[in-house]
Amino acid sequence: MSIPEVDVLVIGAGVVGAALIRELSRYQLDLLLVEKEVDVSFGTSKANSGIVHSGIHDQPGTLKAQFSVQGCRLFPELAAQLGFSYKQNGAIVVARSRAELSRLEKLAENGRANGVQDLSSLSQEDLRRIEPNLSPELAGGLLAPSGGIVTPFELVFALTENAVANGAKLMVDTEVLWFKQEKDGFLVRTNRQPIRAKVIVNAAGLYAGEVAAMIGDHSIRLYARKGEEYLFDRKLKGLVHQTIFPLPSQVTKGILVIPTV
Ligand SMILES: Cc1cc2nc3c(=O)[nH]c(=O)nc-3n(C[C@H](O)[C@H](O)[C@H](O)COP(=O)(O)OP(=O)(O)OC[C@H]3O[C@@H](n4cnc5c(N)ncnc54)[C@H](O)[C@@H]3O)c2cc1C
Repeated sequence: MSIPEVDVLVIGAGVVGAALIRELSRYQLDLLLVEKEVDVSFGTSKANSGIVHSGIHDQPGTLKAQFSVQGCRLFPELAAQLGFSYKQNGAIVVARSRAELSRLEKLAENGRANGVQDLSSLSQEDLRRIEPNLSPELAGGLLAPSGGIVTPFELVFALTENAVANGAKLMVDTEVLWFKQEKDGFLVRTNRQPIRAKVIVNAAGLYAGEVAAMIGDHSIRLYARKGEEYLFDRKLKGLVHQTIFPLPSQVTKGILVIPTV
């Protein structure tokens, strides 16, 4: 049996692998996306909070800040092109006391340094008007209108389907077990068949460390943190319109309230 050869093999069909393969499918390349689970978006990307972050919270000068702001700008057009559920609903960070208002101003400066557009301060009255179900005791807020919400698994499906329509191949139920470098690329062993790839992209999410270790790179370490998500009843749709954040602390963004698209 001859071993199939591709230019680029992407390991992992979460949002990162799907977005990458879709971008690469604009070029004349033999592309293969492999996913160990039975379908795409079966990892973290299937069940996150669905927030398209505006970039106000990120540390200026970091790639995360740069990509959050750029990503926010790209989402409306991407959603229109690919047809996944997305809404630019805006994000509000609230101050619970007058003492927190100065921290809100610092956060606004942080956002402006990152290039977040159209930030505006909200008075107590503004907050009551646009989000009447929030506590009337809140002292004020910071509105980032560029923030959005998305149905996360629809995004991954839409990206992958578009890449496949452009000629990329997808293999689910296919786990990369091992690979080694050869003269012109890599020989990859999976639970199904061997594959040769000139380039491999490690988009394995929580398993990225294990995949990197397959060729002796032990530099990726993941540290687990516990969190909780509560799902509101559908009847509460419309309780808030924007995504609501408290002011972040040193260790957490705090408790958020996130509408569904
Ligand atoms: C509770 C929670 C809420 C979050 N909320 C948000 C949010 O609101 N907004 C936001 O931007 N981010 C959010 N995130 C973060 C976001 O979900 C992740 O950053 C993102 O989903 C990671 O995508 P990924 O493609 O890297 O990983 P994944 O989605 O995990 O995809 C990796 C894929 O690789 C596959 N794989 C692994 N090893 C192999 C192998 N050897 N062979 C083949 N396939 C393999 C896995 O099965 C998996 O499908 C949240 C995360 C959590 C946990």
